[in-house]
Amino acid sequence: MEIHITGNAAKKMRGYINGTPGEISGMAASRVSEDKQSIEVFDCWIWRQECSAGATDAKDINAVFELIEEAKRDGVTSEDVNVWWHSHAMMGAFFSSPDVTTIEKWLVGQGGYLLSIVGNKAKQWEGRIDVRQPFELFLEVNNVDITEEAATLTREEAAAITADIAAKVEVKKWASGGVYPQRAKNKNEKLKYQYPYGKKKVKKYA
Ligand SMILES: [Zn+2]
Repeated sequence: MEIHITGNAAKKMRGYINGTPGEISGMAASRVSEDKQSIEVFDCWIWRQECSAGATDAKDINAVFELIEEAKRDGVTSEDVNVWWHSHAMMGAFFSSPDVTTIEKWLVGQGGYLLSIVGNKAKQWEGRIDVRQPFELFLEVNNVDITEEAATLTREEAAAITADIAAKVEVKKWASGGVYPQRAKNKNEKLKYQYPYGKKKVKKYA
């Protein structure tokens, strides 16, 4: 299984990730390709949220409903909004143990199926698919790509992203008062700092 982040989703996700110093998150819309070999993520949104260098979450349940309404205004049905996406900013792109807890939370409202994507400023990506109904399944998807060439924003689009972030994202300082980790110069460079929680092995259902 492959995950392709395309069109509006590619543009907006890259814009949101680059437009804020710390983490950022929201939902995205996806559909399975005709040959059923890949999932295409085609649009995304952010919710009202509280973020720091190492954490991000929707502000409250109303923020989630508002996101769904925004997707509907963009012509996307709520059934297609089945992707939880977030950025680790300067840190490596992988699912941390708090992320796995978050996935369990969002699975409840998703009819037992959820696609999750984590990215960062260094253009690293990781994906996973969680199924809970009618059976439990967990699939790691390392093959996540984004059409970076399509991710160039026009001046108007960039302004809209900036305004959206300003309206919805509350940036909190890191509890330790620490500075943001160094940015990797390219996607192959090992990041200097790891996610503060460390990478824990998660239970695999596959
Ligand atoms: Zn995370």
